[in-house]
Amino acid sequence: MSGSDKPELIINGKRLDGRGMDELRDIRIEAKVIKNAIGSAYIEWGNNKILAGVYGPKEALPKHVSDPERAIIKCRYAMSPFSSLEEHGRTGPNRRSTEISKVTKETFENVMLLEQFPGSEIDLFIDVLQADGGTRAAGITAAAVALASSGIPMSDIPYAVSVGKVGSELVLDMNKIEDNYSDADLPLSISPRTGDILLLQMDGNMTKEEIKRAIEMAKKAGQKISDIQKAALKLSYERTLEKYKI
Ligand code: ADP
Repeated sequence: MSGSDKPELIINGKRLDGRGMDELRDIRIEAKVIKNAIGSAYIEWGNNKILAGVYGPKEALPKHVSDPERAIIKCRYAMSPFSSLEEHGRTGPNRRSTEISKVTKETFENVMLLEQFPGSEIDLFIDVLQADGGTRAAGITAAAVALASSGIPMSDIPYAVSVGKVGSELVLDMNKIEDNYSDADLPLSISPRTGDILLLQMDGNMTKEEIKRAIEMAKKAGQKISDIQKAALKLSYERTLEKYKI
């Protein structure tokens, strides 16, 4: 511990879990894990465990929320009561989960071809079973695979990752303890095909130069995340082909 109660997060150039500054945690994704959803995915991202499920397109209800020009996306991110060591309080929606649901929905509005389903809704559920920092990024990454596996047309499969700042160092993909004691956190969601940034939030302060570097770090890591997403989709299709002996 340093002067205050703040633990040292970087010791001899390594983070507490042994990672370098630009190293991702291990990521494992499985697509099509829920039979009754049109699309689904399960992700293990470090110690995060998250399920994403997609339903629809179906008639948007209540009627007044429907859009005659395009489908609407309804997104609900939730943490399970046992997902974190900390006291959760009530398990219903709260300010944080409402915000994460909103930014997740906005990420996907940029890449889903919603005009193909006027008057409909697409429901996206993200359930955090185990949380260890960076669940919004891991949730978006899983949701992208779930949506792609549903066959609803998309122009791209986005990924998300967060870049933090510890003292003067930028660190990729912070875990919970890093998130608790870091000086800044910049979650990003990116479209790999175009490089467009679909989500950018910031907690704490970074200079313009640091933000630029953080985006570069996220994009570099994104190549790896994207590959894992695509491999999960490919494997799920191969399994289907095998099952039906196609
Ligand atoms: P993110 O999960 O995207 O990093 P936050 O920065 O809001 O989102 O939260 C950081 C981490 O703190 C979460 O991943 C989770 O481990 C923990 N956490 C956040 N909110 C709660 C909560 N209400 N109860 C328990 N743990 C929480």
